[in-house]
Amino acid sequence: MSETSAPPIAFKAEIRQLLDILIHSLYSDREIFLRELVSNASDALNRLRFEMLTNRDVYQSDAELAITITADKEAKTITITDTGIGMTSQELTTNLGTIAQSGAREFIQAAKESQANLTDIIGQFGVGFYSAFMVAESVQVVSRSYRADAEAAQWESSGGDTFTVTPAEKADRGTTITIHLKEDALDFADEWKLRQIVRKHSDFVAFPVYVGEGENRQQANHVTALWRQAAREIKTEEYDEFYKQLTLEIEPPLARAHIVTDAPVQLYGLLFIPGSNQRGILSLRKEDGLKLYARKVLIQEYYKDLLPEYYRFVQGVVDSEDIPLNVSRELVQNNPVMARLKKILTGRVTTMLKSLAEDSEAPEKYTKFWETFGDHVKQGIAIEQTDRESLYPLLRFRTTAQPDNWSSLADYVGRMKPGQKKIFYLIGDDPRSMARSPHLDYFRENGYEVILFTDIVDSFMLLGLQKYQDFDLQNVAAADLELPEADGNKPAEDSTPMPDADFSSLVDRFKTQLGDRVSDVRATERLRGSIARLVDPDGTMGQEMQRVYKILEKDYETPKKVLELNPRHPTLAALVARPVDDALTQALIEQIYESALLIEGLHPDPASMIPRIEQLMAAALK
Ligand code: ADP
Repeated sequence: MSETSAPPIAFKAEIRQLLDILIHSLYSDREIFLRELVSNASDALNRLRFEMLTNRDVYQSDAELAITITADKEAKTITITDTGIGMTSQELTTNLGTIAQSGAREFIQAAKESQANLTDIIGQFGVGFYSAFMVAESVQVVSRSYRADAEAAQWESSGGDTFTVTPAEKADRGTTITIHLKEDALDFADEWKLRQIVRKHSDFVAFPVYVGEGENRQQANHVTALWRQAAREIKTEEYDEFYKQLTLEIEPPLARAHIVTDAPVQLYGLLFIPGSNQRGILSLRKEDGLKLYARKVLIQEYYKDLLPEYYRFVQGVVDSEDIPLNVSRELVQNNPVMARLKKILTGRVTTMLKSLAEDSEAPEKYTKFWETFGDHVKQGIAIEQTDRESLYPLLRFRTTAQPDNWSSLADYVGRMKPGQKKIFYLIGDDPRSMARSPHLDYFRENGYEVILFTDIVDSFMLLGLQKYQDFDLQNVAAADLELPEADGNKPAEDSTPMPDADFSSLVDRFKTQLGDRVSDVRATERLRGSIARLVDPDGTMGQEMQRVYKILEKDYETPKKVLELNPRHPTLAALVARPVDDALTQALIEQIYESALLIEGLHPDPASMIPRIEQLMAAALK
């Protein structure tokens, strides 16, 4: 069939260079040539489908829209056939030889710059049709255009400087590409292998991809591009099946968002909140990131920059017509389209989580989400610069009034006392010891609810959460806190403070004994029932910042605390009456200080208190 007499046509210069690079590259992932050819075939089918909308005169309008791949070990060939739009001889000449692909120049440039390391760039560029020459000795393209009166034609080249185009016989509409494999690429002439490659790279092509002939002909791709279909036509089971195929996770997703937009960018996306934070051993997804397609061609398996860091647990697929196919990873990142996509997707994830939170029919789902991924939301509040308020509704926490349930900021505000102007919170390590904190005395007595923040990340988060609606957040451990109004209905003070002279002699004893372990000792009106508490001296950084420093810097020492004493407490009144240098008095002072350290989570060695406690026990039993 091949016409040796046909006049050779010269490839355009850029294509020659491109071919030269591809033919001589030692690129190990050569299998992507199939992805490129299947993607071209799928484009051709899409264009035909579009043509059929308006044109009655399409050749073989009943033919199935499909792609078929076959292999012949003996002939050392593989063929890729589509029933798409096809090409006339004129189109073969221009499309496959004289018009350089838009990305060819960029590709050549990148290849020159990264000399040795073609591996990276070939994978990222859509090198298109010419990638066939990575595995081909020669390539033959026989095509029959969809136009009723067109005649078939054949394009052929061995990847040198020229190609030929000659008349051909082809009864069916579409294009057949025959690759004569190089000696070192013969392993591609294997249908099993071709099927694997299709599944890996082209699984979501919107047309069936068959591999094999006759009895062996089997559809190799599992799923059509579900994300490109109308959401109302898709059943929940189909979404779940898709998620399973994508991740191979056993647990179904907690929520999903199917995104189809045209403005400001064209975008299809299918995003999932996983049901668990642990990837199963079978999981297909080895890294965080979204699967990024441009026009159904896989650009990157794990694209991390389409969502902010704190939403890295989201799984799914993003596909946009606006992402240039033939660009390198860096170019994709610097493309303004990507920034717009990121903004849209981030907003949609937040909305998806908000509706999950508001889903009163399955509240356990949000609880599961929160218990699995809540730290990510907190991290988001800590680091998000522009839009952190949008994350506030997602936050959940325990409080003094609701120690066993998750509350939201809105729940808390809804329960605030009339006239309450601030949202109160306490930071600590462990909710049970926090419940006994002396900082809570006043708030408990006067019926103010206090949020209990117990996660390491909470201190970071609080740097980004200083106000909710009109209410400032206020740490109840702050020494300079302006106390909210006392409850008028509570019983009057039952004990009176000790006389000033007694109290100052008591303060002197504490100061002498504790020395520079504390920065000051003084009275407080804040305590009810507790003997003492530790607070920060005026002018030191807030407790949140201190905790952040402690996490970031190993050697960071928290500033010395002020010990505040309750002048109404009977234990202290009794202590004043005791002899100064007595061992028991000293043990009592020591224990009061260390108990305060303990409840603050600052005691370096709680077990060291045991001998003293035993000493006090012995004294009590005397
Ligand atoms: P790209 O697909 O990025 O435009 P290619 O080099 O892969 O670049 O293909 C060049 C052109 O050849 C395509 O734009 C298309 O017009 C045509 N073409 C390639 N493969 C086919 C095919 N299977 N059917 C019809 N046209 C094709």
